[in-house]
Amino acid sequence: MNVLVINAGSSSLKYQLFNMETEAILAKGMCDRIGLDGHLKHKPVSNKKPVFDESIPLPTHAEAINVVIEKLTSADYGVIESLSEINAVGHRVVNGGRKFSESVRIDQEVINAIEACARLAPLHNPANLMGIEACQKLMPNIPQIAVFDTAFHQTIPDYAHIYPIPYKYFEDHDIRRYGFHGTSHRYVSKLAIDYLGGKVEGSKIISCHLGNGASIAAIKDGKSIDTTMGVTPLEGVPMGTRSGSIDPAIVEIISSLEGNISIKETMEILNKQSGVLGVSCLSSDFRDVEKAAGYDIETGLRIESAPVNELCKLALEIFCYQVAKFIGSYIVAMGGVDAIIFTAGVGENSPYARRVITDNLNGIGICMNEPTNRFRGLGKFVDITGDDSKAKVLVIPTDEELVIARDTVAIVNG
Ligand code: AMP
Repeated sequence: MNVLVINAGSSSLKYQLFNMETEAILAKGMCDRIGLDGHLKHKPVSNKKPVFDESIPLPTHAEAINVVIEKLTSADYGVIESLSEINAVGHRVVNGGRKFSESVRIDQEVINAIEACARLAPLHNPANLMGIEACQKLMPNIPQIAVFDTAFHQTIPDYAHIYPIPYKYFEDHDIRRYGFHGTSHRYVSKLAIDYLGGKVEGSKIISCHLGNGASIAAIKDGKSIDTTMGVTPLEGVPMGTRSGSIDPAIVEIISSLEGNISIKETMEILNKQSGVLGVSCLSSDFRDVEKAAGYDIETGLRIESAPVNELCKLALEIFCYQVAKFIGSYIVAMGGVDAIIFTAGVGENSPYARRVITDNLNGIGICMNEPTNRFRGLGKFVDITGDDSKAKVLVIPTDEELVIARDTVAIVNG
């Protein structure tokens, strides 16, 4: 069975085509600048055909899907002969609200429910829906499956998901902690549990998905019991450009400091100009910031002769401190921890971040093996646990697209 995985954003659309007999990627790519001028990067993986990387008009998501199918089936860049070789489509949907605790086959009722959740995720859900509607139009008889970022976190108990604000906002307006990166946390925590011997009952895992967006999840008995992101992805640890958790009164203070700008404009500052970018005043990319702070990005170690940009150093320290603080709080929440996982762009590639975060946990007996930690981008599972550490420290590459493809197969096969 071939499964096309679609991750539609407001002006972008990422895709991967899988052969699910082997779980091999046949092709992948990304449509960018949809609704503007349009650009497509398409990479055939299963054969030696060339990469297509050019500007191409993409006025709508429907047009983007059309172009993707055209490339997947073309003589020059294709990996399949015709549309009929796509057996199902799996869509990433950011917020499934309180309704979806697992992946589902898409029908009109599901579309209505995703639409209803759009007020909770105004940037993401409408874009996800555009991808779904475009695929339905082009492939009306092919099953479409929705996989929600929030679904894995629906097991978080009420005392951890209800905010201490007037209860009516939860009851009448669904304002609660939803959490995101659920497919990633589910995937890596399962691999960690398998590595520890496969016993789900009694397992205590902390998964740190540290990328441009970052979240941490406490996973007990294989179920999410808490996570750092909230009703939106703004809450929790500081991120590339997002502030993470701050005193909510700062919203009013910034608005007034900037000449009474609107709440929307203030939220833009917290979403797009804060976090590592905001403090470093340089970049949201950890590689740039680590280099400027005088670290070798290959080893994560200080280069003694390198100049130190103090704001970059501070931005990194704030990030690592906050991540370690949340890990500590989740050890309390679960009454212990068996394994801490580092995953996503920073978690998989930054020996600096892994080392400094884990060093912050030395006081509670958790440590890593420093030389083993000196790698980036290996793309494989690495155990970096130190001698006598009270918990395993693991680097596990995430694969959200594969999870979406697997869920799609499971639902299609009933
Ligand atoms: P993601 O959102 O998971 O794709 O992660 C993207 C982020 O990973 C980038 O913004 C970088 O900050 C970070 N990253 C990627 N490679 C490295 C590296 N070698 N060292 C430090 N950070 C990295």
